[in-house]
Amino acid sequence: MRRIDLKKAHTAGLATIRDINRQIVLNYVREREPISRAAIARESALQRSTVSAIVDALQTEGLVEEIGEGESTGGRPPTLLRLRTAGAIAIGVSVTPSETTIGTSDLAGRVLSQETFPTDPDANETFGRVIDGIQRLMRQQGESIESIGVSLPGLIDPSTGVAIYVPYFKWRDLPVARMLSAMTSLPVTIDNDANAVALAELWFGRPEVSDARDFILVLAAEGVGTGIVFDGQVYRGERGAAGEFGHMIIGTHAPVPCSCGNRDCWEAFSSERAALARYQKLKRDDGESRIDFKELVDRALAGESEARTALVDMALCLGIGISNLVVGFSPEAVVVGGEIARAWPLVEDALKETIEHSVRRGLPSARILPSTLGNEPTLMGALSLVLASKFASSSFAV
Ligand SMILES: [Zn+2]
Repeated sequence: MRRIDLKKAHTAGLATIRDINRQIVLNYVREREPISRAAIARESALQRSTVSAIVDALQTEGLVEEIGEGESTGGRPPTLLRLRTAGAIAIGVSVTPSETTIGTSDLAGRVLSQETFPTDPDANETFGRVIDGIQRLMRQQGESIESIGVSLPGLIDPSTGVAIYVPYFKWRDLPVARMLSAMTSLPVTIDNDANAVALAELWFGRPEVSDARDFILVLAAEGVGTGIVFDGQVYRGERGAAGEFGHMIIGTHAPVPCSCGNRDCWEAFSSERAALARYQKLKRDDGESRIDFKELVDRALAGESEARTALVDMALCLGIGISNLVVGFSPEAVVVGGEIARAWPLVEDALKETIEHSVRRGLPSARILPSTLGNEPTLMGALSLVLASKFASSSFAV
């Protein structure tokens, strides 16, 4: 049972009930499309007239559309509904230490277009190109774009839209939301990459994840970040700083320095950079070994033993950190995102064995699952910052 937040109680009341019913109907359409008004009423136990009135409003808002008639069960055949598919509604910007991707999606999270360029350590260069890309997309996509979401690899304050610290480039106190909003006249939401991907898993992940009320997303990329979902929402902590488990200490003398500079952080053992450093050592830095992580996964999947060893070592180290989180939080599931998810058959055993080893017998263990968000999880995260606000209700926080 959640304690009522008295500071937000003034927003509760009749409007809240209407808002909650609206979210229920919208999410039935989202998850069960194509679905009829009668089926929503039957499954949600809302009044048929309430459902019809809400669907009318959702059609007017351009969120839901009719797509013809379904099978008759005796009387008049029912009209089926789905989320509106016409046009891009969101722009997502994923900034990673190596590259920046800008993409558009429709309401259902289907990516419609995307472009990628190398991230420049100079923030003005990177965000200059981001603004050019957004303006180009807005010219192509017309009026339908409503909002922009931005995923960044660092300490982010979503409430002020400021990137407090991005360690890879030493960006400090960058007013990203204000900057982009001023140049595009659109609302901008920003968040830390792992939190954004956790939000994407919550809304667009496989049902085992999206139905779980409590899960942890571990994003293993150039760095290692975690997004914690408690009771169906991302836990942010004070100024959005929660989830910095990448810097918990799990050993000494890691193969690479952490983005924070230390050599004892989880990230320094378990990131893509750590796996690449191990691989180069195994290959005695023979010139063929200076590759990117995608190529490392390709080589491992093709059967190269040094590549496989480097990935399994990365998985063992990831497993140590994850077992600490499982022991501490007892989540329903832990989802591992990043390119390593593509190598799941090679790393699954190493991960699970490390974790089972540390969880006490008889205590519940979490399911460990690969992300199913595809090869651009942080772009999906950035888009989710916009899309989730369409489907979530702020009133639920009361
Ligand atoms: Zn660190």
